Amino acid sequence: MSQFTMTINGAAVGSDQQLSVLDPATGRPFAECPDCSEAQLDQAVRAAKAALPAWQGDAEARRAALLKCADAIEAQAQAIAPVLTQEQGKPLGKALEELYGAALWFRSTVALPLEDQLLREDENFRVELRRRPLGVVAGITPWNFPVLLAVWKIAPALLAGNTFILKPSPYTPLSSLALGEALRDALPPGVFNVVSGGDQLGRWLTAHPEVRKISFTGSVATGKHIAAAAAPDLKRVTLELGGNDPAIVLADNNPEKIAEKLFWSAFANSGQVCVAVKRLYVEEPIFPAVVEALGAIAERVKVGPGSAADSELGPLNNRAQFDRVSELVEDARSHGAKVVAGGKPLANEGYFYAPTILTDVTEGVRLVDEEQFGPALPVMSFKSVDEVLGRANGTHFGLGGSIWTEDLDRGATLARDLDCGTAWVNQHMNLAPDVPFGGVKWSGIGYENGPWGLAAFTEYQVINVAKR
Ligand code: NAD
Repeated sequence: MSQFTMTINGAAVGSDQQLSVLDPATGRPFAECPDCSEAQLDQAVRAAKAALPAWQGDAEARRAALLKCADAIEAQAQAIAPVLTQEQGKPLGKALEELYGAALWFRSTVALPLEDQLLREDENFRVELRRRPLGVVAGITPWNFPVLLAVWKIAPALLAGNTFILKPSPYTPLSSLALGEALRDALPPGVFNVVSGGDQLGRWLTAHPEVRKISFTGSVATGKHIAAAAAPDLKRVTLELGGNDPAIVLADNNPEKIAEKLFWSAFANSGQVCVAVKRLYVEEPIFPAVVEALGAIAERVKVGPGSAADSELGPLNNRAQFDRVSELVEDARSHGAKVVAGGKPLANEGYFYAPTILTDVTEGVRLVDEEQFGPALPVMSFKSVDEVLGRANGTHFGLGGSIWTEDLDRGATLARDLDCGTAWVNQHMNLAPDVPFGGVKWSGIGYENGPWGLAAFTEYQVINVAKR
């Protein structure tokens, strides 16, 4: 079995205890990762703290080091991508996209300005606004895009002058450990540490008194635990949590023209995307045609191991997620849902589930009300825009949403009525390093990416000088 090491104070570190990592395409273990002890975590936090003064002191050196990180990720992309595929399940081409995306994110972040601002200067006072780093930052990440979502945190946190401890999901630790290995030579010891372990490790990290901020991406339930755990110490938090995104398709669409784009907005990464379309509302006149077109695509798409060249979708990442999707589809069926395509597991081993389109389902059924995070899409019809906006917004979630229409002005106007962090028109899931991303309501607190994401890793300090 392959061995991967943690990165603590710039060095490769193993552990007495190991955790198995499963290949979701087989359901069998294929590698191990260290199970970080509390003492080792403490070492990592101390190393991160010790590295702070030198790292904070030289902004130009930080920018140069972060560019080296981008180079290192690109240089290692071909080596890390198969690891990501094997632990996560996604097709190899998508794993490569994730790695090159991570390098792009480093480069875009390095280009962001981080300058002090002169607020006022007159004969009496000089008032400056300074951006200070927070200190040691913890990044806790999920298993759907382990490398990219980590880099959304690492790059701005380091640019701002913080040091970092990354704790990946126990389902996908290896690509993050490999990232730590790839960046060891690019960054001074202690600036970027990677530790692997279970949820308990996340709890230790969250509770550690030297950690000043937790940047978390994951489920709503864990996000609430983290917010509560951060409260006694008033640690800063950014929470990027779950979604149950609605897409609203108006009757002026040509179903054939939009079906492919709609399908992939829901099924990319086997539906395991926080901002995937998770509820589809189609205006009555074109409802049958949209359902038919989506069903045809779902039947056609090639599902298989991520390592196979022709796989368009891989398995679900883990047993619990596979069971959850199966259970939600069965529950919908027992409430009268009609399965237009899929509706069942595939293959004898691994966590493969057929891309599933369901109709005759509505609010009040778990598949509609909860985040399925998998390849099963409920498609519902609506009669009026007022009615559908009420249904779309009638949830605790508020990550993304979209309006699909030939009338771009109307689409942009209706998008404003969606109660969510990002509202798209004629697309979904389009994220970029220069555009802020975050959720409202239970979908999160704070923003990532661009100057807004960078600001989340700084605090203001006012320097107010009296001249006489
Ligand atoms: P999860 O909440 O179960 O786990 C995420 C991470 O938190 C893991 O590293 C886990 O070990 C750690 N963790 C678990 N309990 C903890 C605790 N009490 N304290 C500290 N850390 C703890 O989420 P998941 O199942 O890995 O990911 C799927 C979820 O993530 C979905 O809800 C999805 O929508 C969401 N997500 C959100 C975004 C976003 O940007 N908004 C992006 C991707 C995924």
